[in-house]
Amino acid sequence: MDLLAESVQTIKGIGPKKAKLLAQLGIYTLGDALYLFPRDYEKYGSVTSIASMQRNQKVSLCVKFQGKPQIIRKGKNKSILRWQAKDNTGTVVCVWFNQPYRANQYKEDISYYVYGKAVMGYGQIQIQNPQVEEYRPEIHNKERWDPIYPLVEGLTQSDLRNLIKETLKILEDNIIDDLPIIVRQKFALCEKKYAINNIHFPMHDKALEWSRRRLVFEELFFMQMALYAIKENLGASKKGLRFSWSNKELENFIKKLPFPLTGAQKRVTKEILDDLKKDVPMNRLVYGDVGSGKTVVAVIALYVAFLAGYQGVMMAPTEILARQHYKTLKELLDGLKINISLLIGGIGNKEKEQIKAKISKGEIDIVIATHAVLQEDVEFNKLGLVITDEQHRFGVRQRATILQKGKINPHMLVMSATPIPRTLALIFYGDLDISLIDELPPGRKPVKTYHVPSSMRQRVYGFIRKQAELGYQTYLVCPLIEESEKIPVQSAVELYDSLKDGALFDLRLGLIHGKMKGEEKDEIMSEFQEGEIDVLISTTVIEVGVNVANANLMVIENAERFGLAQLHQLRGRVGRSDSQAYCVLIADVKNRIARERMNIMVKTNNGFEIAHKDLELRGPGEFLGVKQHGLPEFKIANLIRDMDILKEVQAAAQWIMKLDDTMEKQRILDKAYTKIFSNLGEIVFN
Ligand code: ADP
Ligand code: MG
Repeated sequence: MDLLAESVQTIKGIGPKKAKLLAQLGIYTLGDALYLFPRDYEKYGSVTSIASMQRNQKVSLCVKFQGKPQIIRKGKNKSILRWQAKDNTGTVVCVWFNQPYRANQYKEDISYYVYGKAVMGYGQIQIQNPQVEEYRPEIHNKERWDPIYPLVEGLTQSDLRNLIKETLKILEDNIIDDLPIIVRQKFALCEKKYAINNIHFPMHDKALEWSRRRLVFEELFFMQMALYAIKENLGASKKGLRFSWSNKELENFIKKLPFPLTGAQKRVTKEILDDLKKDVPMNRLVYGDVGSGKTVVAVIALYVAFLAGYQGVMMAPTEILARQHYKTLKELLDGLKINISLLIGGIGNKEKEQIKAKISKGEIDIVIATHAVLQEDVEFNKLGLVITDEQHRFGVRQRATILQKGKINPHMLVMSATPIPRTLALIFYGDLDISLIDELPPGRKPVKTYHVPSSMRQRVYGFIRKQAELGYQTYLVCPLIEESEKIPVQSAVELYDSLKDGALFDLRLGLIHGKMKGEEKDEIMSEFQEGEIDVLISTTVIEVGVNVANANLMVIENAERFGLAQLHQLRGRVGRSDSQAYCVLIADVKNRIARERMNIMVKTNNGFEIAHKDLELRGPGEFLGVKQHGLPEFKIANLIRDMDILKEVQAAAQWIMKLDDTMEKQRILDKAYTKIFSNLGEIVFN
């Protein structure tokens, strides 16, 4: 029987009620409990003497209480309890606030362990609100770390400590060390059993350090290897489709594009075409900052797939973006007898079925889709190329899903504008070859960015009006109030209503948000595109990919509530022509970090610089959220704090990939893949 899968209710003290609370922490089984890592520790030193106490330091003492406790009542529930305690070096006063019951708890002649902070009060040194336990030398007369776990209401630290202590006892011999021994030895990592025991109840400082390093290492290692596994499975070992096409037709097409390609676009196009000629599947990331012109590169690749006789699919994270791509492709590929279809949630079921049927018969050449296309009943006749736009929204999981479909082995191209520091790129994109579009189309001027307090909102409206008079359009993005989806929609609707009858009554306003029907969104976006709307009031649905060149002003309300990456993406919606563009961040900043975040946006348009600053200010959580990349969340690793371990892990992973023992290498890859991706389940999109 698998003990790890046993319910937590097998532990004494955990009944249905506590089990329910534990479930809120994601803990159902003993195995789950084992992997609930402490968020912090309380450190207790070994027992010292009263004579050696220092002010403002935490002390552990072994004392007896002396004489009568003194209780001073200070009104209904208020009291001060003072009690003298002594050891063989001297005496000290223990003071408790509002805990009068303690006066009855401790007996003379018994030694107690007392732990608390030594402070000065009434001219003498005292210990305030100390913890007291009956003294047991085997526990108290040594250094001790008590784990502090995340809690929910109704659970206490001692519930969790007890649960985990008991679990450790039961599971002691069931902790399997699956980190390959060669890795453990080469990188001097402690054993899993030791690590698990000591991450919960460390024996000493070093034990905690070793254990943490070992567990972080393991977590990052399997993640890295799983990504390599995807690459191996998609790549080298599998046969791909060797495309062949007429260069003349392709050149003609490129010549007829509305603009000449930039040097960077040409280079990246060539890298892609070289991949497509090979009989191993392409697995490439095109990274380029917002506005660098990734779409046209994707269109060229899709056209090549068509010329080679294959179907192509391009996936976008939002319907708005999918619809926009659909339009762009229709225009750019006009007159070439290519059947292009849009497959998104917003179209009717009947139409959807028709499109799917045509896709499976091979009557449609290029499909533009949201994730709907990934659903199992979409079958391609001859799928040759899969492109995902704004990869950071799609993530690794989807790539793994496509892989799991098994039958198909198409070329894969992912595009992203999310800047990511080099060291981290390897873990997120370790399975991809990377192409960089590091040049903007000619004539682009950096967006001028201003940070203003909300008291200047009327002047911002004046600026919007002025831009409208000059014939330009504005995006006005509403505050993001909280994660919940309803609220931003509400705030957009409210802002729209108040501006329509108020400050901007004389302009043509439009409203767009995620809760609108597909066609409605489509209509509004076309009106905005056609210049029939001066100001588009919006939630963050327009965050990624939207391209309306005549819009040159981006106003963001409550900008302090957005992540820097998001602000950068939003700002990327303007500055898409050669006219000067502006971005106004309305934000009342209340602290240094918020101010610095606004400053960095004002100072630079460079996505990489912004990424670095964001990391510095907030850590990787939000900016490089693992979630964002479609990977499971880390349980213990922290990509900033553990950068050094990450580097070691990467060295380890590369070493494994070069192993002569290919059986061992394959075994490790398979294990990692299963560990990370086996319970993919339903893919959840937002
Ligand atoms: P992103 O990289 O953010 O996806 P897009 O592909 O949306 O950027 O391109 C941004 C804008 O730049 C579009 O209007 C596109 O038509 C235009 N564009 C792309 N490449 C060039 C180029 N080489 N010269 C001029 N304009 C270009
Ligand atoms: Mg784009």
